[in-house]
Amino acid sequence: MTESYQPETLAVRAGNVQSQFHEHSEALFLTSSFTFDNAEQAAKRFIGEEPGNIYARFTNPTVTMFEDRLAALEGAEQCVATSSGMSAILSACMGLLKAGDHVIASQSLFGSTVNLFNTVMKKFGVETTFVSATDVSAWKAAVRPNTKLFFLETPSNPLTEISDIAAISAVAKGCGALLAVDNCFCTPILQRPFDFGADIVIHSATKYIDGQGRVLGGAVLGSKKLMEPVYGFLRTTGPTMSAFNAWVFLKGLETLKLRMDAHSANALQLAQWLEKQPNVARVFYPGLPSHPQHALAMKQQKTGGGIVAFEVKGGKAAAWKVIDSTKLLSITANLGDTKTTITHPATTTHARISPEARAAAGIGEGLIRIAVGLEAIVDIQNDLARGL
Ligand SMILES: *Cc1c(COP(=O)(O)O)cnc(C)c1O
Repeated sequence: MTESYQPETLAVRAGNVQSQFHEHSEALFLTSSFTFDNAEQAAKRFIGEEPGNIYARFTNPTVTMFEDRLAALEGAEQCVATSSGMSAILSACMGLLKAGDHVIASQSLFGSTVNLFNTVMKKFGVETTFVSATDVSAWKAAVRPNTKLFFLETPSNPLTEISDIAAISAVAKGCGALLAVDNCFCTPILQRPFDFGADIVIHSATKYIDGQGRVLGGAVLGSKKLMEPVYGFLRTTGPTMSAFNAWVFLKGLETLKLRMDAHSANALQLAQWLEKQPNVARVFYPGLPSHPQHALAMKQQKTGGGIVAFEVKGGKAAAWKVIDSTKLLSITANLGDTKTTITHPATTTHARISPEARAAAGIGEGLIRIAVGLEAIVDIQNDLARGL
């Protein structure tokens, strides 16, 4: 399907391939291997002379349909689906980096991503410098002759800081490095990083693409040339997406636009309401004019997205009281679900970093993060009002 179709259309139609049975809904191919007409065809498939499926670690038609649909939505030449968001980041790094290379990464990254750069990649000789998500000059100052990759996530978790993709991409291009953007929070419905100069887009499909908290998955997207070594790593080492999960994600993509619009509308209303609560010291939401990078957010994103963070007066005790007074919201760190989730970052997702580092990152003891779901906004507000 060509890119001239609107996102809503691509989300329900792109990538769909019918089998000989002419099924209307995408088929789930639960098979680990594929057969050949004869020995010669098998030989041709294995040496790549004839396209076609061989083994599900390499390709599976259901997974391919998901890859093609997500690629159409992001405007990418190719998508490589993976078993989780973390294996997407690992596969991108292992495919595109080698020992001796240097990475510049935002210091406001998903915790496991920080660990991946600090432990796994470090062990294999790749060094990472962490810089401010918002200070473009810091990215420029961190460049070394061996810098190969820039890595960021925008908006960041939990403070919703916005990185200027176009400006950071210009710095990366200036030194011959690639820019990878983890687009998990926005999805292509709200933000298309390739339009602002990104070379690689990463997804944890586990979050909004599934949208109902069922299965794990991820994706790496980019040019055919860049995806070749990423796919090569996956094919050899095996963190491949399962066909069943791909089928769940295909169905998730079909309603992604509706859900992202509804998550965003609910989140904006909640952020506006929180700003008026006397016990709330500060609200972090890119869709609010009070957000320090509101203008940049509205240039890069269609809406503020579904994640709201806020600081309550009274520190940890007050924050825990708000969380423990809820009866409806789910106390869990997951996000991107139809069910609203509430977390205390300082003692959960960001508990393993030192109190000083946490304070430097702006994650206070009174901070609460909400991944706003699809319940009626009045019910979400009432649930929070009890503890506030
Ligand atoms: C959850 C998450 C990941 C990791 O994804 P998994 O599917 O859990 O492996 C990566 N980046 C961001 C921004 C996330 O929220």
